[in-house]
Amino acid sequence: MRPPPYCSFCRKPAEAVGKLVGGQGVFICDACVGRCREALEGACGEADCVPSPLALEECHLLASLKAAAASVDDTRERLQAHVAALRAKDVSWARIAAALGISRQAAWERFG
Ligand SMILES: [Zn+2]
Repeated sequence: MRPPPYCSFCRKPAEAVGKLVGGQGVFICDACVGRCREALEGACGEADCVPSPLALEECHLLASLKAAAASVDDTRERLQAHVAALRAKDVSWARIAAALGISRQAAWERFG
């Protein structure tokens, strides 16, 4: 059974936020969308302008580190779980490596 969704940015569970929007393996809550909007609008005012980390204040960069690291850990765990599920289904390292765009040896060393 899949765990209930939570915001991939602030890690709050669905029941603790107003709305939760899903993407490809990630979710974002309404509060984090608001923070993103503030950050984007703070850069240059253009809606599609993504600010460089150098344009952000230190406090915002520091505040985002823990969530960013947790997101990386989540993604790494999800990737490991997908590879483990493929191996459990007897999918070869060669096919897994091809899907990842890496060598069979690199796939085995990283996930084996
Ligand atoms: Zn959030």
